[in-house]
Amino acid sequence: MTSTTPLFYHPAPRTQQFCSQCGHPLSREIPPDDNRIRDLCKHCGAVHYQNPRNVVGVVPIWNDQVLLCRRAIEPRYGKWTLPAGFMELGETTEQGAARENQEESGARIRVQSLFTVVDVPSVNQVHLYYLAEVLGPHLDPGSETLEAAFFKLDAIPWQELSFRSVSTTLERYVQDRASGVFTTHHYAIDLRFPD
Ligand SMILES: [Zn+2]
Repeated sequence: MTSTTPLFYHPAPRTQQFCSQCGHPLSREIPPDDNRIRDLCKHCGAVHYQNPRNVVGVVPIWNDQVLLCRRAIEPRYGKWTLPAGFMELGETTEQGAARENQEESGARIRVQSLFTVVDVPSVNQVHLYYLAEVLGPHLDPGSETLEAAFFKLDAIPWQELSFRSVSTTLERYVQDRASGVFTTHHYAIDLRFPD
């Protein structure tokens, strides 16, 4: 399933004042042969690019139930989420998804196929969720999780979910489960245009 949303260029937020190459103050302007505003060092010529970040996670399934974690951190403290977080350097998306699950739920899982790829351009992120088989009922949530629990699909706490990529990924899981055909879904969410 694909949905399209109008996307608009917006300049990256300013995250640094000084050039990390030479220490001179940065200016905000469009470099030669470019078409976007960047943090540019006019002393040494370095361009400090900013690019989207990946959030990686899993849809952990134990029999007919999905494993969710209740967040012990802001944002969305107390809301239910799929195990997910920012990808670290030096790992694959699949390894990152498994690591986030280990940190947040402690469940033993086997990561399976890629399930959703969610573009979230308004916050400069791409979220990737893998299906995962939970290998046993033992849970050992870490410090970022208040509690972890299994939910039957007709008992998912839709009004208490943390993020739109979580709710839309779970919606697609429920749909695919009903049809019996699991595919990879790629779609965009623009948080400035709620649907
Ligand atoms: Zn410089």
